Amino acid sequence: MITGLLLVLQLGTPVYDRVILGGHVMDPASQLDAVRNIGLTGGRIAVITTHAIRGRDTVDAHGLVVAPGFIDLHAHGQTPETYRFYSLDGVTAALELELGTSDVAAWYGERSAAEPVNYGVSIGHIKVRMAVMHDSGSWMPVSDGAYRAASPEQIGEIAQRIEVGLREGAVSVGAGFPYTPAATRDELLALFRVAAMAKTPIHVHIRPGVAGLKEALALAGETHARLHVVHINSAGLAETPVMLQMISDARAHGRDVTTEAYPYDAGMTEIQSATIQDVYKNAPDERLAELEWPSTGERLNRARFERYSRIGGPVVVHTNTEQMVIVAITSPLTIIASDAYWQNGTGHPRTTGTFARVLGRYVGSADRQGVRLSLMDAIRKMTLMPAQRLEARIPAMRQKGRLRVGADADITIFDAGRVLDRSTYREPSLSPVGIQDVIVNGVSVVANGRAVEGVAPGKEVRAPR
Ligand SMILES: [Zn+2]
Repeated sequence: MITGLLLVLQLGTPVYDRVILGGHVMDPASQLDAVRNIGLTGGRIAVITTHAIRGRDTVDAHGLVVAPGFIDLHAHGQTPETYRFYSLDGVTAALELELGTSDVAAWYGERSAAEPVNYGVSIGHIKVRMAVMHDSGSWMPVSDGAYRAASPEQIGEIAQRIEVGLREGAVSVGAGFPYTPAATRDELLALFRVAAMAKTPIHVHIRPGVAGLKEALALAGETHARLHVVHINSAGLAETPVMLQMISDARAHGRDVTTEAYPYDAGMTEIQSATIQDVYKNAPDERLAELEWPSTGERLNRARFERYSRIGGPVVVHTNTEQMVIVAITSPLTIIASDAYWQNGTGHPRTTGTFARVLGRYVGSADRQGVRLSLMDAIRKMTLMPAQRLEARIPAMRQKGRLRVGADADITIFDAGRVLDRSTYREPSLSPVGIQDVIVNGVSVVANGRAVEGVAPGKEVRAPR
């Protein structure tokens, strides 16, 4: 009898490349929320079933949640070091859509040797403006790219370079108005018109507060561009609830507007950038104390501000409250996106902890104070929502952010009771706990909570050319 049964199994059932057995499968698109076995073949999901299945390789997911891989729409670090950080935080696609690049073809070319996670980039107004205005900064504008108005010819050149970037397959258009304060309304309108013509979202770091959101909504309204407002938490601070309501109202009127948030009450950016210098150059000491030099933990005063402004480097900006972070993270409007920031071996802890932090600290459960997000809603914000944001321009995103037969095998497996970030402003490189296995295009890049060395299954996320 037993021999006969085994024979049937061997002859009658396929052997998958890899099987994930006994996990609690959670898929926001289908609302599947049950224990299943998943079989993967050729980098795709081949079966999701209650029946026993066999594979050449097995991931035991009993007691763990099996979710679509997390998609990060705002990841500045695009190096092997940061891709590894992201994978350990459950991210399977890391996209740099705010700063972007000034040369899309070269950017993808530099990564064609394959990476551990999927990657992609926008054509970035900030970077293009730096090139056209011959800015002397290496990462963000510090001279004419920030402070000099462009001539009509230069505006034409900026718009034309953005069109070229889109033709080369940029995921979207990126912009950051506080980093380019000299850009006139005509220049910004030119940018929005190009985005509208290409039917691509423009991912904008808006100017602060309600006034900043009004400006971006007006530019989008006038040009019929699709708008994505990055990190509403740090753009909004105390005005975050009003701004979320404004976005909700715009959507109710049929406008294509989306937003995102990261789960920390302090930001980080380059001390030499216009966004810091314009605000703090003449600020009194009590205002300067909002700034922290991360390597020493010092709060700044006039003398320190001037010394570190000459040296350059990242500075922590303490201007938000936990209450506003909760509002931003739990709003049904927000996508979770890290704004991962990493330069010269250091950066913001959100680089290594964003997704585990949301799952560990903002998802409601009996032993966590104040029930907030449901686990399914948290997963939706990390998977389905970011995939859907990009689908109009990149149809291949319909195969990501979901667990269904035929979808790309980008899968994150975590322990919902244990998952938690560990990184801090002083120690930003610590990886989270509880993210057990991360699979990219069918290949494990994290196994048993550890990065797998020597694998590079990541593929480019790029618009059809
Ligand atoms: Zn950013």
